[in-house]
Amino acid sequence: MNWTLIKAVIKARRDGLFRLVPADEPTRLDCLVDKSAKCCRALGLPVVTDAEAEKIGPEHIRRCDHGMVLKSKHSICCMLKDGLCTIYTDRPRGCREYPWYNIGGKLYYDSGCPGIKHDRDERPDIGEIQPFENFFPDIPTFVLHLIKQICITK
Ligand code: SF4
Repeated sequence: MNWTLIKAVIKARRDGLFRLVPADEPTRLDCLVDKSAKCCRALGLPVVTDAEAEKIGPEHIRRCDHGMVLKSKHSICCMLKDGLCTIYTDRPRGCREYPWYNIGGKLYYDSGCPGIKHDRDERPDIGEIQPFENFFPDIPTFVLHLIKQICITK
């Protein structure tokens, strides 16, 4: 069981993030970048693939039983410096996709993200967003089910 990821979800919830809402209405992201980086401070241990790890460098990667995540301290990503992502162009897929999630083939967004706006429709295609399960390697199915129950607002 990956307790670091579980703790990250708890911290994110405490910080007002990971409030997942179906993206049924026009929605867009107006990323506040350095004014916030709330996601990198609360959910800052994104899962990385082999190819991403190679670009980022092994010294920044933590291996778990079923994958790899970026190193973090208290869920704050190690790549965040002075409020900015130091690997922005090479950031992992999960960071590129945030605040969008693909849960069971349906598009959701994190309503706790301060950059969410509803004045224009810039929702991504669901096919572009990886399955929610990818963010939780080494987490048993029943725990993942519980996480969804807690974090999804219908
Ligand atoms: S890699 Fe960059 S964008 Fe992703 S959580 Fe870390 S600082 Fe934020």
